[in-house]
Amino acid sequence: MYDVQESINAQKKYCEEHQAPHFAPNNGRCWSCNQNIYEPGRYVWKGKSDGRESLGITVEKAASELVTGCPHCNRTYCD
Ligand SMILES: [Zn+2]
Repeated sequence: MYDVQESINAQKKYCEEHQAPHFAPNNGRCWSCNQNIYEPGRYVWKGKSDGRESLGITVEKAASELVTGCPHCNRTYCD
């Protein structure tokens, strides 16, 4: 299930509960590829979309895993 706002909240909660740093962009929008990590998008490699669909981060995933990078362009937010 995709829901941007729900996912943002779920990830915030996950980080608080696990005392983990919140790496994900606050609005879910990747500053590298301009797609929302909490929605399905297109794979981007070296600044170019190759047209394949990529999965976004679902509410379930945002609630159970630490988000450290973009599912579309694989940009890491940790560094
Ligand atoms: Zn990205």
